[in-house]
Amino acid sequence: MANEYDAIIVGGGHNGLVSAAYLARSGARTLVLESRGSLGGAATTESPWEDAPHLRVTRLSYVVSLMPPTIVRDLALERHGYKVHPMGPYYQAFPEGGSLTIFEDDPKRTHEQLAKFSKKDADAWPKWNEWLEGIAEVMGPLLTQVPPNIGSHKPSDLIDLAKLAWSQKGITTRMTADVTRLLTMSIADLLDDWFESPQIKGALAVNGVIGTWAGPYEPGTAYVMAHHSIGDVGDGQLGSWGYPEGGMGGVSEAIARSARGFGAEIRTNARVSGLKVRGGRVHGVVLENGDEIAAPLVVTTLHPRTAFLDQIPRHELPDDFVRDIEHWKTRSGVVKINLALGELPNFTADPSSGIAEHLTGSVEMAPTMEYIEAAFQDARVGKPALMPFSDGVIPTTLDTTLNPDGTHIMSLFTQWVPAEWADAPHTEELDAYADRLIDLYDEVAPGFKSSILHRDVVGPHEMEQEYGLIGGNIFHGELSLEQLFHMRPAPGFADYRTPIAGLYNGSSATHAGGGVCGIPGWQAAKAALADRKRANGRLRAALSRRS
Ligand SMILES: Cc1cc2nc3c(=O)[nH]c(=O)nc-3n(C[C@H](O)[C@H](O)[C@H](O)COP(=O)(O)OP(=O)(O)OC[C@H]3O[C@@H](n4cnc5c(N)ncnc54)[C@H](O)[C@@H]3O)c2cc1C
Repeated sequence: MANEYDAIIVGGGHNGLVSAAYLARSGARTLVLESRGSLGGAATTESPWEDAPHLRVTRLSYVVSLMPPTIVRDLALERHGYKVHPMGPYYQAFPEGGSLTIFEDDPKRTHEQLAKFSKKDADAWPKWNEWLEGIAEVMGPLLTQVPPNIGSHKPSDLIDLAKLAWSQKGITTRMTADVTRLLTMSIADLLDDWFESPQIKGALAVNGVIGTWAGPYEPGTAYVMAHHSIGDVGDGQLGSWGYPEGGMGGVSEAIARSARGFGAEIRTNARVSGLKVRGGRVHGVVLENGDEIAAPLVVTTLHPRTAFLDQIPRHELPDDFVRDIEHWKTRSGVVKINLALGELPNFTADPSSGIAEHLTGSVEMAPTMEYIEAAFQDARVGKPALMPFSDGVIPTTLDTTLNPDGTHIMSLFTQWVPAEWADAPHTEELDAYADRLIDLYDEVAPGFKSSILHRDVVGPHEMEQEYGLIGGNIFHGELSLEQLFHMRPAPGFADYRTPIAGLYNGSSATHAGGGVCGIPGWQAAKAALADRKRANGRLRAALSRRS
């Protein structure tokens, strides 16, 4: 039957595509429904400029690190075009003169660089990295763990909890203390314990506030730094960040090719308006155009507010669960600015022409922790940051496939504007915000402003309306402590299952999300397949009892 499938995936972002590939690989007749005209969700490569349709931009997310090698292998992603160019060093040119470059793979050069600001900090650097590696050993493997249902007395949940505790048996008192600190401290307090130089602390603070509605002095930001720095998903590889070939849309395209290869069908311009739920079980979906499609298994990868509050009749869900999703925190105040450049920036501190090494990694505007904090304080009181911070990259320095005509694309991930800006476009104010940031780069790299050929400013409202990122949060929900691990997205439902039988959750609002890692989509498919196997086993046992 044309409108009957074994499995439907709602949302063709990278997680939905991963789920689809795994389910199709298991032999399920699988359909992906994506509302937009193109796939990838927040992992997308697009051409935003009508007057330059040939220019391609990695429009929202911009670097990849956390995709587990197992997913890459299982889905043969490399054969389908997945390729990552490891990015270059961290670079910050300071308004008062000078610069800082951090080479992750070159301790000697990094020591020289750090010693320009503090000999003590330069000496502390290797120990800091060792400390982070220790943290990665503990926390990395947890990313691919299914969170236990803490507090449940069901024997299977108690066994899961015991297994998790057993897997952590090698952890020492010292490691537990380090992880506790990481989970509870602000990135500012953590860095104050290690370093003295404002410039070096500025460099390390950025990862603590990426995508976060919190300044560096807020508790919990140390964990956000770990989520972004560790890069080890406990799957045999300590990852480093890199530019996927063809932009982030290249990642989604590779996964889509794999899913199609396993037999999945993918429809775009197919907005799901609701799920068909009766008696606590899902039976399929209804599209915006009124079409109904049946399936006994549905994986939703939408923001939890949309998935549960808009697409399922309220009476089908437990009150506690509804309350948890209503209280889900989903702010971030992020603005993405994409620029097409006629020429690469030439920083006064490090004059260059062409593709210099310091342009191949992060090209930051986050000189100190105090600077970053001031940007948050502006937004907290309802104003766009007077001096926004920016995590900039120029992927075209390494990925020449993106724009073969040689035009460079600079992608600026910036913060903050007020979280409430998700409610309205604020177009003119966003333009003024972008102007201010561009002026800041121009100050340290004169001529930068005049090198801009095109610009594209994506604020929280567009992220919500166009991409379904409610509140403009880049991860489908904040990475704050009360929304992590067994609490993501709600207590009792962190195992990628939902209160509705047959409905699974593979969105970034589950454990290991956000980020472009595919883990939620993978785990949701695994949960669905395990349940199917168990149900088939029960059916076989019942039949054999009868015969
Ligand atoms: C500006 C920005 C920068 C980021 N930078 C990075 C980065 O550099 N590295 C990184 O790892 N992560 C980054 N992230 C986070 C990361 O991109 C996301 O966590 C991840 O892409 C989310 O993937 P997903 O598949 O869970 O959801 P999504 O990508 O949100 O996919 C959900 C899909 O569902 C579709 N949809 C919505 N409503 C419906 C409907 N009713 N019916 C059918 N389909 C629907 C959407 O169009 C979308 O395609 C960034 C995010 C943003 C916004």
